[in-house]
Amino acid sequence: MSQLIEVKGIGPKISAKLKNQGIETINDLLFSFPAKYETHKIHSFDSVELNTECTLEVTVKARSKIYFIRKNLDKLSVQVETNRIVFQVSIFNRRFLAKALQPGVEIIITGKFLKNYSSFTASNIVLKKNYQPGILPIYGLNDIKDANFRKIIREVMSFDTKLAETLPKRILSKHQIPNINDLIQIIHNPKSEHDIHISKKRIIYEELLHFALKMESLKKLNQSIVTKAKKYDINLVRDFISKLPFTLTKDQQQATNEIFKDLKKPNQMNRLLQGDVGSGKTIVSIIASLAVVSANVQVAIMAPTLVLAKQHYETFQKYLTSYGVKIRLLTSDLAVQTKRLIMDEMKRNEVHIIIGTQSLIQESIDFHNLGFVVIDEQHRFGVNQRKELRLKGSIPDVLLMSATPIPRTLAISIYKDLDISFIKQKPEGRLDIETDIIEYEELDKLLVQVEKELKKGHQAYFICPKILDSETSLKISVEELNIVLQNKIGQKYRIDVLHGKMSDQDKTIVLDRFYRNSTDTLISTTVVEVGVDVKNATVMVIVNANSFGLAQLHQLRGRIGRDEFQSYCYLVVDNLLESSERLQILKETNDGFLISEYDLSLRGPGEVFGNTQSGIPSFKMANLVNDQEILEQAFVDAIDIIGSQDILSRKLTNKAIKANDSYNLD
Ligand code: ADP
Ligand code: MG
Repeated sequence: MSQLIEVKGIGPKISAKLKNQGIETINDLLFSFPAKYETHKIHSFDSVELNTECTLEVTVKARSKIYFIRKNLDKLSVQVETNRIVFQVSIFNRRFLAKALQPGVEIIITGKFLKNYSSFTASNIVLKKNYQPGILPIYGLNDIKDANFRKIIREVMSFDTKLAETLPKRILSKHQIPNINDLIQIIHNPKSEHDIHISKKRIIYEELLHFALKMESLKKLNQSIVTKAKKYDINLVRDFISKLPFTLTKDQQQATNEIFKDLKKPNQMNRLLQGDVGSGKTIVSIIASLAVVSANVQVAIMAPTLVLAKQHYETFQKYLTSYGVKIRLLTSDLAVQTKRLIMDEMKRNEVHIIIGTQSLIQESIDFHNLGFVVIDEQHRFGVNQRKELRLKGSIPDVLLMSATPIPRTLAISIYKDLDISFIKQKPEGRLDIETDIIEYEELDKLLVQVEKELKKGHQAYFICPKILDSETSLKISVEELNIVLQNKIGQKYRIDVLHGKMSDQDKTIVLDRFYRNSTDTLISTTVVEVGVDVKNATVMVIVNANSFGLAQLHQLRGRIGRDEFQSYCYLVVDNLLESSERLQILKETNDGFLISEYDLSLRGPGEVFGNTQSGIPSFKMANLVNDQEILEQAFVDAIDIIGSQDILSRKLTNKAIKANDSYNLD
């Protein structure tokens, strides 16, 4: 039997509902695992504590009474007895039970003794004859009652379908996890907490093993890619570094060394440069680019936004033009003719470094000799896009830069296909940003502080969670705050507005004005989150701070404190009581890695980094933070499996390789 409709209890209606949730076969049913379990266990009266939920078996002693409290609220009260102890049980809005609760009837009550042991407040009452003890799986499917689905599962389990094992025997016994057929039995019908534990363990393990296999085979593939070693001019690079207006931090030096070692090797570089906002990743990429150019190889720099691409263009020019390096900005808003001109120059090797947005990989550029690609804010680029790059004729070394501070252990355990360099240390002389949490009511006081900075000639950002005002949302919009600020400080200071709905051209104009210090205050949405570098800005005010994640708030705060001036961040909330606990960490530390670790302990990686943007994969049951130990084991096993020749191992490996072909971490 394979048609769902043939299963007892599944008619056309249920079958359609199942199909809606992707359940189309008997196997799909068997693999529809419970979302959670409810443990139904009867407690003994002696062990029960006040104010703690319990379930008791009792006998009705007298007829129940019903009290009408107000419209739609009534209370049923019934006297019961257990072991000669008599007490009163009450439950709300269940007067329909009155008839069944005749003296002498045995019932199961769940609830609490709130103040004393003479009155029990129940959340549920069932007749003993209807009570099902044991562990109850809760599937929580849309549109299908759990009781119905459990019946269907019970029916399907009675077919005793034999499933083919997917994991090698040695793995099962090594980790003491059930084989596939036992798994299906106990996951739908666990007899103990242990059953639940080991079935979850197998599912989590298997999810993480598939991930580990993908990563390990990707790594193997990467290692096998051969490139030309780059013969750069080390003296030129040394000269460049010695003439910088600052000394590199130790971490910057180490990252630079690691990159140079990669450049020298005849294998493709796949390196992730992780550093907190403002840690100075850009200069590291500039040094590496200069080295590559000195080896007569071309460089491409890709940024996630036009604004950032332009900023990089200016920074690269500032540092490299005097070294005879030719740099071009290639963006989608250029006229076709200009574009063609630039592309010709690229082809003839008259341009050494090209800078653009991700559209760079969509343009069909003929490079003379592309050998190095830097991708800034890498989490916005998927593996597929990285691959596209590699497929563009030559095989360039790839340097990814990310300001998403993923703790070292987590990063190392998930980015097995990349080498990672960390910049943890901030450039010297940077003062920690002072952060405060204040109520919106105190806006006037806050503006006094802001004006102090503006008077010194510094600049301020105001960040709002949305663009336009609306009646339904209480959040403050750019539009609304603009009116407020124009009114309060608009006479004295120049205020500008920036948001994502503006055209790229308008955005650039506004940001240019801010860069040139022609405006004092920029009211913006989170479009300024990524990478914008205005050293003179010393104030960051974030309104409705609670609507942002901690990592995002830290990113936004990173827009200030970029020079030796003391900078100030104000997190504005509606109500101090409601909100400040989570935000407190930002007041306490400026270390992005600490903040993300704290955030990760509160929420999973998916929520912290956003599954779609972070490049961190999401799982059904596994959690990369809580299940690190299993993850480590999965990686050890993955290497073993890739090297093994038994059928199951080969099947697993092939599946991973196939998945990599269509793999996209985004
Ligand atoms: P991010 O890592 O966030 O991309 P940037 O590369 O934009 O940070 O650097 C932030 C600022 O710090 C830049 O203005 C840069 O010139 C400056 N900077 C970088 N390295 C140093 C250093 N070693 N000492 C002082 N300032 C530095
Ligand atoms: Mg940057």
